[in-house]
Formats: sequence, structure tokens, C-alpha cells
Amino acid sequence: MKSSPPADGPLLQVQGVGKRFGRIHAVDEVSFDLWPGEVLAVVGESGSGKSTLLNLVAGRLAADSGAVLYRSQDRGLEDLVTMDEPRRRYLARSEWGFVHQSPRDGLRLKVSAGANVGERLMALGARHYGRIRGAAADWLARVEVPLDRLDDLPETFSGGMQQRLQIARNLVTAPRLVLLDEPTGGLDVSVQARLLDLLRNLVADLDLAVVIVTHDLAVARLLSHRMLVMQRGRVVETGLTDQVLDDPQAAYSQLLVASILQG
Ligand code: ADP
Ligand code: MG
Repeated sequence: MKSSPPADGPLLQVQGVGKRFGRIHAVDEVSFDLWPGEVLAVVGESGSGKSTLLNLVAGRLAADSGAVLYRSQDRGLEDLVTMDEPRRRYLARSEWGFVHQSPRDGLRLKVSAGANVGERLMALGARHYGRIRGAAADWLARVEVPLDRLDDLPETFSGGMQQRLQIARNLVTAPRLVLLDEPTGGLDVSVQARLLDLLRNLVADLDLAVVIVTHDLAVARLLSHRMLVMQRGRVVETGLTDQVLDDPQAAYSQLLVASILQG
């Protein structure tokens, strides 16, 4: 058995993290903590730095400044900003999930649905074919992909089904931290509702720690405990989701909330 890390403490501590692209300050001095089992929504309009922040948190982009401390199972607190690439890849396989806005970025479209899920277990050392296939089938059922599609290529799936498959691929390894970038972004409204419902149940059942990026305040309302409102790379407001949405304090959050009410 692995020794368990101290339960008392955030899973993730983002401390004054910053990222520039040329003259654009995409993320500017952003800080937040994420506790085990907590769902944090990052909201803001297009271009406010949400995806950049998520990529900094995943170590997919190197921050120019600040620290991203992650509490791993085996080593305790580690800084993603200075972590070497093999270690980052190991954590990405074993402890994290990352769901892209476009399933095309998070799936292998020319490999069967079952293999898309199963290969994540193989990457962690699973070798027993029957068990891998069984786990893949279980996960397809959980995300409501019909079992007779197990051997089909994801490129033959609808957008909603592809996104559900991407979620299965990212949860099959029982990650501790899941990062989602606009997971309902490209989908029709009715398909979005079903995916959100599914996500909400999975997050609760698996007790996941989640950072979800969205420009849709209804998504934040449904899924998150706390939220962080970004404008031009900065956090302009943070608080409990219901509090921020019912009584926004920052002028920018007031505008965001008003614009959806007029929607
Ligand atoms: P959001 O996800 O909130 O729409 P992004 O994080 O994608 O915002 O972008 C924040 C800002 O950084 C935008 O001005 C965007 O144009 C810029 N940006 C993002 N990624 C890059 C990149 N790879 N190269 C140059 N500029 C980028
Ligand atoms: Mg984005």
C-alpha cells in the first residue's frame, strides 16, 4: 500500500501564476486553492485567459511566474512550474484527467472507442486483455455510449457521444484531479443538458476535485461549489458560486450575470 498523503490541505495551490504571449498578459497573478472533492468554475468571456490558466494548472504550458503546487499521492507537494516532463506525464496519466473543449483534441479518432478508454489503463501497466476490455465496456455504459459501439471509431460518433467518450477516457483511471475546458462548448443545447447531467452525477459519485472552465454561467451554477471570475487575465471576483451569481460584487461580474439574464 502507498502511504496516504496528509488529508488536511488543498490538492492544488495556485500562487500568483502568470503567463504572457508577447505583449498580451494572458494570465496575470492568479491564485486559488482547490480542495479534494471541490469543484471550481473559472468563468469569463472569450479571451479572458481561462484556457491558458487551465493549461498552466496542468503543466501543459510553463508559467512565467508564480507556482502551481500539486499534492501527489507519492511525493506530497510538488511545483508543476519546475517539474520535469517525465514526472508531469506520469502524473497526467495516473492522477489527472484533462477534457478538451473539442473531442478531436482529446480522443484518438482512428482508434476504436474501447481502445480509447482501454489504452489509458494500459499506460498505467494493465496487461490483462479481458479485464481492460471489461473496464472499457463498463465505462462506455457509465457515459451512456451503447455497448455495440465498443469497436467503432469515434469519428463515426455524434459530437455529444464523442464528448462522453472523452470523459470516459479521462475517468477510467480514477484520477484525483480533473480539468475540463468548456466541455459542453461545441454542442447543441439539448445535448449539453444531458452531458451536464452526466457530468454532475460522475463528479458527485467519484468525489472528484475539478476545475471547469466555462463561459456559461448556467454550467457553473449547476456543477461548481466556488467560482473565479476572470477578465483580461485577472481574477476580478471569487466566492461561493451561488453567492457570486446571486449577488455579484465586481462591476464586471455584474455585467456578466446581467447579460445572461437578458440572454
Ligand atoms: P479563453 O480561454 O478565456 O478564451 P485564452 O486563455 O485562450 O482565453 O486566451 C487569453 C489571451 O491569450 C487571448 O488574448 C488569446 O488571444 C491569447 N493567447 C492564448 N493562447 C495564445 C498563444 N498560444 N499564442 C498567442 N496568444 C495566445
Ligand atoms: Mg478557452
